[in-house]
Amino acid sequence: MRALTNALRQNRLHHAWLLTGTRGVGKTTLARIMAKALNCETGITAAPCGVCGACTEIDSGRFVDLLELDAASNTQVDNMRELLENALYAPTSGRFKVYIIDEVHMLSRSAFNAMLKTLEEPPEHVKFILATTDPQKVPVTVLSRCLQFNLKQIPAPEIRGRLEAILQAEGVPSEVAALNLIARAAQGSLRDALSLLDQAIAHGAGRVEEQSVRAMLGTVDQSHLLSILQALVERDGARMLAVADEMQARSFDFESALQDLATLLHRIALLQTLPAAAVTDDFDRELVAALAASLAPEDVQLCYQIALQGRSDLPLAPDEYAGFTMPLLRMLAFAPQASGPGPVSEPAAFAGTGSGTRAGAAPKPTAAPAAVPASGGGATADWHELVASLKLGGMARMLAQHSELVRDDGDRLELMVPEAHRHLLDQAYRDKLQAALEERYGRKLRLQFALGANTGNTPAERDDQERQARERRAIEAIEGDPFVREVVENFDARVSDDSIRPTEAGERLEAGPRSPDRR
Ligand SMILES: [Zn+2]
Repeated sequence: MRALTNALRQNRLHHAWLLTGTRGVGKTTLARIMAKALNCETGITAAPCGVCGACTEIDSGRFVDLLELDAASNTQVDNMRELLENALYAPTSGRFKVYIIDEVHMLSRSAFNAMLKTLEEPPEHVKFILATTDPQKVPVTVLSRCLQFNLKQIPAPEIRGRLEAILQAEGVPSEVAALNLIARAAQGSLRDALSLLDQAIAHGAGRVEEQSVRAMLGTVDQSHLLSILQALVERDGARMLAVADEMQARSFDFESALQDLATLLHRIALLQTLPAAAVTDDFDRELVAALAASLAPEDVQLCYQIALQGRSDLPLAPDEYAGFTMPLLRMLAFAPQASGPGPVSEPAAFAGTGSGTRAGAAPKPTAAPAAVPASGGGATADWHELVASLKLGGMARMLAQHSELVRDDGDRLELMVPEAHRHLLDQAYRDKLQAALEERYGRKLRLQFALGANTGNTPAERDDQERQARERRAIEAIEGDPFVREVVENFDARVSDDSIRPTEAGERLEAGPRSPDRR
């Protein structure tokens, strides 16, 4: 914008400007500011006063020398020639006659020709401010006569900051997660963000909260997409389809679902590659972090591609449901972990720590995890408490959470990790877990890791089961509530299970790690 400001300051004025950028980045807003800059009664200025006759009339759309056209609407284009002929006459009240033509690439050939004639020998008092989302479609003859400005998309964090400032000034309480949702939904358009914010305030009865914003946006509830990716991690095709079925039952838009899925995968990839760059105050950050820890980076890349491809294939699909589920099945089929967890009794590959056997060494039959550990029956329960109390963070905690203690020989611990979480067996995480366990036991230990199937016995799986049980209880409690019952019976309504979450203190929805003080 500096070039524009300088041009205005120094009165080096072109006859035509072309503003390009995606919708909602502020092209027409800027065009009107330019119209004021050119016509402000204080003189040609980069900072129009906003209070003089010209400025106020432009703001209210009553300025006779400003002609705004939307080339996307045909009726206005029809009289393009007439309007341009009119350009020869001096302005009525302003300094310049300003033509703002929005979506200029949509002008017909004859309209372009008419405009070109004026552009070739422009009267001194005529200025064109053209705007387009698609400069490729503007004829070169027109482009060559314009000074071009490309308006960049506004990054989501900046939009969020703007919304925050507005709400603070107006004293409207808000949740950061809600503002993130709005900023992301606006896709770089501040105008869209502001109109979404207005709706959110109305929808949330004066508050901007995550729950109501999610409901309002009505786009795919992120939790469905998170469930789909979780099912992918667990290679649970049936669950993936069940989620898709539910989305269809609620008539979600599958095209935006695929787009949101790609966005989610991008966030996961970002978190895997540049943990510092990821937005950290999202409501779902821990679930996303858990997925980032559970999916191999190359799988994330692959799934991203599949989601994008699926979106462009959607118009060709036999129907939307097929168009949405086919990419999901493709993810399931192509993600390299497709071998899936074998039966527990099958010999599993060992990935021992330094003192144990190396990965790829002669396989040794794993003790069946269901068998009673050598140290006695309490080992599994103890393991959960032990893991919860370990001083561990990040991926090492994730490894502990996804491990099951299958044997404890005093100085040698054997841990089983489900196949789906094999990427957690990184040496660095194993070393950290070993160090934490040694500190806890107060002696040197040998850790041995084996890969196996999901048995439902790892701390992470246990947490998940407990959460599900609590949810079931919450649903029962809600459905048993007399008021709710009455509503359901009178209005033939159905309580949406997804809207119910247990509210136990400290309860979190993620299956990932949680700090010990939370339990
Ligand atoms: Zn003014």
